[in-house]
Amino acid sequence: MPYASVALDITTRQLDGAFTYAVPPELAADAVTGATVLVTFSHRAAVGYVVSTSDEPPADVPPQKISPIEQVLAPSAFDATAARVAAWMAHEYACPLCEAIRPFLAPGQKVRVTRSAPDAPWELVNERAGAVDARWAALTPAANDFTPAKTASRQRAVIEALRQGPQRVAELSATIPGAAAAVTALAKRGVVQIESRRQIRGADDTTLSSAAAPRPERLTQGQLAALAAIDEARAAACGDVVLVDGVTGSGKTEVYLAAIERALADGRGALVLVPEISLTAQTVGRFRSRFGDEVAVLHSRLSAGERFDQWDLVRTGRARVVVGARSALFAPLSDPGLIIIDEEHEGSYKQDKSPRYHAREVAARLARERGAALVLGSATPSLEALARCRSGTYRDARWTRVEMPERPGSAVLPRVTVVDMGEQFRGGGRSIFSAPLANALLDVARRREKAVLLLNRRGFANFLMCRDCGCVPECPHCSTALTYHERGHLLACHTCGRSWPVRAYPDPSTACPNCGSRYLAAFGVGTQRVEDELRLLLPADVEVIRMDADTTRAKGAHQRLLEQFDAAECAVLVGTQMIAKGLDFPEVTLVGVINADTMLKLPDFRAAERTYDLLEQVAGRAGRGERPGEVIVQTWWATHPAMRAVATHDRAVFLEAELAERAEAGYPPFARLANVTVWGRAEKDVRSTCDDLAAAVRAQVGDTPGWEILGPADCVKARVKDQVRRHVMVKAPVDADLGGLLGACVGSLGRRVGINMAVDIDAYDLM
Ligand code: ADP
Ligand code: ZN
Ligand code: ZN
Repeated sequence: MPYASVALDITTRQLDGAFTYAVPPELAADAVTGATVLVTFSHRAAVGYVVSTSDEPPADVPPQKISPIEQVLAPSAFDATAARVAAWMAHEYACPLCEAIRPFLAPGQKVRVTRSAPDAPWELVNERAGAVDARWAALTPAANDFTPAKTASRQRAVIEALRQGPQRVAELSATIPGAAAAVTALAKRGVVQIESRRQIRGADDTTLSSAAAPRPERLTQGQLAALAAIDEARAAACGDVVLVDGVTGSGKTEVYLAAIERALADGRGALVLVPEISLTAQTVGRFRSRFGDEVAVLHSRLSAGERFDQWDLVRTGRARVVVGARSALFAPLSDPGLIIIDEEHEGSYKQDKSPRYHAREVAARLARERGAALVLGSATPSLEALARCRSGTYRDARWTRVEMPERPGSAVLPRVTVVDMGEQFRGGGRSIFSAPLANALLDVARRREKAVLLLNRRGFANFLMCRDCGCVPECPHCSTALTYHERGHLLACHTCGRSWPVRAYPDPSTACPNCGSRYLAAFGVGTQRVEDELRLLLPADVEVIRMDADTTRAKGAHQRLLEQFDAAECAVLVGTQMIAKGLDFPEVTLVGVINADTMLKLPDFRAAERTYDLLEQVAGRAGRGERPGEVIVQTWWATHPAMRAVATHDRAVFLEAELAERAEAGYPPFARLANVTVWGRAEKDVRSTCDDLAAAVRAQVGDTPGWEILGPADCVKARVKDQVRRHVMVKAPVDADLGGLLGACVGSLGRRVGINMAVDIDAYDLM
């Protein structure tokens, strides 16, 4: 009789791993690797997943002790290779095996079972609500002569997307709210044609025109070089990595499309990951126009029913190109020749709940297991990726960087000016807007153009800063910026746990430790105040639109504000970082950054990198259209390498300084860093658990060089919903088995009532 190794979906570390069950003959065809099954575990029914099968009974369990699989609940969702990757994830990220398996399951599948009658078979609870919309939309020739009304921006968005080629209405609706109504309206006018079918079966038997997106006549030198490197990695078929390091608009997407064509020609498939926020109708359209119904789209804005349907197209081999957000990595594509991660540096590729994986690392593993090539693309690659390319190899794979420094054609990079706010202050400037920014805004108003103002709220008002010299009080022991806590008027270090009353740092008054100025104050202004001051500055006929958490709370508000800005003749859009990404307004001629540096002083070693990425991204948004763009960046740290690099369009300025600092302090990419957070209502128990954990790690690590334990300390968010939060950070050498060690330490603590713990390996969020 065959046997199956089953991972139980019970998330206690004591039951982690897989258990052997017997496969009864009548289930033999279905109880295969990847199937969801019902078993009995210590006299109770449990859901589990088959991770492998064998004809031999295990050597260490007597046959009469092996109980049978009761029922198969869902067909196979993953193969043996995927099961190996899941096992690797469980170890690497120190999480229970079942949590590492869940991302591989069918969308909508729940762990719960139910049955209609006491003797009826059990069924899995599935969330597949929402009928599947099988309609496709395409432009008709009449679209060439049709101009939508100025206010009909949805119609414009739909037409814009369909110019890339036919698309599914459900996908349009997921990225353009109200798209379905716009499609209907456009169909009435004969501009759009609608066809109902699950898939388009090749261009011949469909009436939909395939007005494919324009293909460039010839590729640039950079694009050809990138393709050559990707070809080589595909041929090697062992998980080699190509980093396409290209400025915004340099044609990276075009490289992906060409590489996918080649993978398909080889009879293999491709996985393409895009940050959720960049997964717009245009992006989807570009892939659909090239690969038609070979494409499956997977992201969270689609209904569960839609997601399941697309996933099933992949599982059954009908779609061989998967385009989606982070979780699309786990789509059941059996033979990808290529895995692509666009905007590789994006923090959103790190999942913030268990399994706390990074898509880049899982993709690298998957590429190796599947014999595929991994392509990473970015205008601001992560320091991790850059460091690996410098050394040439990482975890047995080759890492190659290809630069694409230019935009095709005549498009130019915008002019960037960095304004030193300390200098403005000393010159008597007390306004939110420096003189150069105020003048530029007035010019925009005079020329009847549009501007975007970014107010960075991340890390806002969390620290004190000297208005004269820009100095921020730091911990003398950790050189981490001290965080200001209004309650208690305290300055705290979240690396080592020390804190000082503001008055005692420095002694004796609230003055700058660097220059003695008394203008030491909490940092930052709100969007509301920026809006108010803008209205005072600008003529009344300039529209001011504010976009932040307050104004976008209502459903659809985000889109409405963007439409308002789009339809305006002359306007300024003020917003938090939510406006920095994915927006493309060709008419914007000025981008202002009110406070470039709020993030710089976060107690987070990636603070400078994030600041640089954000500024580069914002700068890339200006001047996409006919008129050249201008970018003005206001900062109190004008000499910071991130600011100088943005001003000169020279990343090396930032990179060299940042890498030197990381190397010196022993942070990634020169070390690994894990963050273990412990939280609960009882402070005493949280403290003792944290202390025990630190002791367990210390006992394991001893004096091994390269390892360091930081804390325990309060988290920056020390209290959330009445729960106390503390953490321990662990640094380890780059090649250390950090997950294995921490998994064992956490396991050794046993279960603690009322205590929650999160192990975050290669952590991104240190707060
Ligand atoms: P990225 O993904 O790097 O931002 P895209 O691939 O979107 O860049 O290309 C930016 C623009 O340049 C697009 O409009 C694209 O059609 C165009 N483009 C890309 N490659 C070429 C090329 N070789 N020749 C002409 N235009 C190109
Ligand atoms: Zn000072
Ligand atoms: Zn400290």
